[in-house]
Amino acid sequence: MTTDYKLKLSGLEPLVAWRDSNFINVGERTNVTGSKKFLRLIKDNKFEEALEIAKDQVNGGAQILDVNFDEALIDGAATMTHFLNLIASEPDIARIPIMIDSSKWEVLEAGLKCVQGKCIVNSISLKDGEKEMVRKAKLIKKYGAAMIVMAFDEDGQADTLQRRIDICKRAYIVLTQEAKILPQDIIFDPNIFPVATGMEEHRRNALDFFEATAWIKQNLKGVLVSGGVSNVSFSFRGNDKVREAIHSSFLYHAIQHGMDMGIVNPSQLEVYDQIDKDLLELVEDVLLDRRADATEKLLAYSEQNKNEGKTKEKKTDEWRNGTVEERLSYALVKGIIDFIDEDTEEARLKYSKPIEVIEGPLMDGMSVVGDLFGSGKMFLPQVVKSARVMKKSVALLEPYILYANADETTTLKRKKILLATVKGDVHDIGKNIVSVVLACNGYEIIDLGVMVPQERIIQTAIEQNVDAIGLSGLITPSLEEMISVAQEMERQKLNIPLLIGGATTSKVHTAVKIAGNYSGMVLHINDASRAVPAVSKITTENEVELEAYKNQIEAEHERVRIHYANHKERKEMLSIEQARANKWQLVFDEKTIAVPKDLGVFQLDLDLEEVARFIDWTPYFQSWDLHGKFPKILEDEVIGQQATILYQEAQTHLQKIIQAKSLQAKAVFGFFEANSNEQDEILLKGTNEKFICLRQQSSKTAGQPNFCLSDYIAPEGIAKDFVGCFAVSAGFGLEDLLAPLQAENDDYTIIILKALADRLAEASAEYLHYKVRTEYWAYDKEENLSNEAIIAEAYRGIRPAPGYPACPDHLEKKTIWKLLEVEQRVGIKLTDSLAMDPASSVSGYYFAHPEAKYFGLGKIQEDQLEDYAKRRNIDLETARKWLAFNLF
Ligand code: SAH
Repeated sequence: MTTDYKLKLSGLEPLVAWRDSNFINVGERTNVTGSKKFLRLIKDNKFEEALEIAKDQVNGGAQILDVNFDEALIDGAATMTHFLNLIASEPDIARIPIMIDSSKWEVLEAGLKCVQGKCIVNSISLKDGEKEMVRKAKLIKKYGAAMIVMAFDEDGQADTLQRRIDICKRAYIVLTQEAKILPQDIIFDPNIFPVATGMEEHRRNALDFFEATAWIKQNLKGVLVSGGVSNVSFSFRGNDKVREAIHSSFLYHAIQHGMDMGIVNPSQLEVYDQIDKDLLELVEDVLLDRRADATEKLLAYSEQNKNEGKTKEKKTDEWRNGTVEERLSYALVKGIIDFIDEDTEEARLKYSKPIEVIEGPLMDGMSVVGDLFGSGKMFLPQVVKSARVMKKSVALLEPYILYANADETTTLKRKKILLATVKGDVHDIGKNIVSVVLACNGYEIIDLGVMVPQERIIQTAIEQNVDAIGLSGLITPSLEEMISVAQEMERQKLNIPLLIGGATTSKVHTAVKIAGNYSGMVLHINDASRAVPAVSKITTENEVELEAYKNQIEAEHERVRIHYANHKERKEMLSIEQARANKWQLVFDEKTIAVPKDLGVFQLDLDLEEVARFIDWTPYFQSWDLHGKFPKILEDEVIGQQATILYQEAQTHLQKIIQAKSLQAKAVFGFFEANSNEQDEILLKGTNEKFICLRQQSSKTAGQPNFCLSDYIAPEGIAKDFVGCFAVSAGFGLEDLLAPLQAENDDYTIIILKALADRLAEASAEYLHYKVRTEYWAYDKEENLSNEAIIAEAYRGIRPAPGYPACPDHLEKKTIWKLLEVEQRVGIKLTDSLAMDPASSVSGYYFAHPEAKYFGLGKIQEDQLEDYAKRRNIDLETARKWLAFNLF
């Protein structure tokens, strides 16, 4: 099999050309030297539209994409990097291999550094001698790319058949023997020059190319031949019909002679058999140099038949022929932002009031989006992209609405939804997604942001007369805050529906702890796709339906409450003494106790490039409601394509962030001598601090201990033992990155960046843990695990985080903050609810005992709560508030 192919390349997908493969089209329009439109877009920094050109090329049949930025006023290397990164985020484009095209080596190398898959470099040659060509060829090989070799030497371009043969032969020998390049990675370009120039010495231009091609394919075994086709018809610029005929005929003959691939505009190729016979005859007279007056005759024909071509290029843009309403709808559904300015303007002029554009075509388009999303035919990231188009259009209309009659705004009767992340909490990815999805469905969103005190939520709700309030939060103390908001709403006798969402919220908690406190409607919403139908039901003006829905929710809550109460009674619990008697008794000796290299507190600035290798991508997709394990999720039949787009976008941003150092990750950590005591505490020697732990109290089957983190540390008097703790954040700089996006309402990118910063924070924790094991605590200097194994936590030791199942008490963060001087040293703050700010932060303990493992505390009893309050030196009610999540 291996000998049967002549070329193997890849974008996201492989491109294998077998010996008998058809001709390979290389899309040429993303080349500033060949396309004025592309040049203008790049110069104007209109990369989104430039990407559309790339997409059109792929849709038009290009199998490889030629990308070229060789223009005096363009920073080639930077633009190449930027554009290739953008392409990487568009799987529709990135699926095919790239041809990095430049006459400057640094531009080629910039492209090689960021392109994925196996690409082609266009080009190298003998122009600067053999040594230089070998050097470049070796580098290209190292980057894993194939290469175009121009028929060019120290004396210039080969313009005769003989020079083409001589140069290609010499290059072949040098490349295969000195640079050890495989022939199938060598693609010769024997120069396609214009025909019909009127100059005598150009008459054989096409013919020489054909013959050189045949010679190369026969004599230089294993190589391929390519060429830039458009050049051949240069004399007929402006006459697309003639140009298309020349291209098709040229290709027909070149392929017959062995040409394997060519840079063409695939959507602009006439089918050879369909070329007008008279025209074909004239064209072939020129190409094959069949008669002396061939050029004259073709020029004459061209004069008579000006500008008839250009029919096919429009095909891919057919949707542009629809009515303005159809175009707006199409742009919204597809998330295409390129024409939204002109279409919005056209609609504005067409409708008598600008507001009607929003209420009419835009809302109609978004409702298609909403329906597709609701029926599972569209996914969250696409919806957010659609919303970006919607927002841009609305932003364009807004100034006109403001100028217009004041009472016009009242015709727009959209339901208002207030959204807020509650006081003490800084997490808002989920809330932002819900906000976008609701906005797409015609709701007006009043988003109060994060850490919003209840007074402000309630006051705004009353003033703005909102139709519903959505509360969001991620950490467990936020649950208490939500209860408190519900109680306050009840006290003020409000009757506004209350929506509850966020990672730790649950149907049970909502039914048992929140709904009981508020006589208005309360609804738990756990994912964005449910938000729309639920909100539509609770804001309906049909009173009968509303009443029915209310009853349905209340019945459901009642069912959950009864189930919960029964469950609670059934579960057997131990007293705290009994539980402590069933502690886990680990062995503490030289094998299991790890002595840190140095004790004390350390601080590090982390290199995000290193950190990035530790990213666990799976949760990134979860934040977009795409569920599945990375990397398999990329191939999922249903969500794979969306997941791939999101992944590519994240990669692009990640590379930019790493290069520009726009996010900074900082860590502080320390190791302390420590022993555990009988009260489930870890005493830190040489400090006045202790870690206060909580113990499982559910009754266990025989042989199963009642877990508590302090069991991982040797009891006093048994042995000298050690514990560590840490805090790390990757969120420094995020606000500056988001500010311009917020100004542009680009929720899509905002959500990606926030989710990415969270990933970097978790990866920083993973990376730091690795450094601790191998260098700082240094108990596993030889650790040699794959990234997958590290993400799967196959190493020795754990890093439980306060607020998580084994240690749900957030107050422990205060102890860590004191011990490590976290705020002073690295600037991570704690909010009232002990959320970390920046949000993209992680903190925790280090346990190094080989048996240490994660567990969940579960529910605890009043006796442990009282004991805990004493140990913590706080009153019982305060203790109850902090541990509410683990109390019955
Ligand atoms: N690799 C995942 C880790 C998620 S869990 C990610 O990138 O998102 C996040 C952190 O919570 C873990 O690294 C660990 O510090 C902590 N953790 C996990 N399970 C825990 C438990 N049962 N109790 C306490 N902390 C836990």
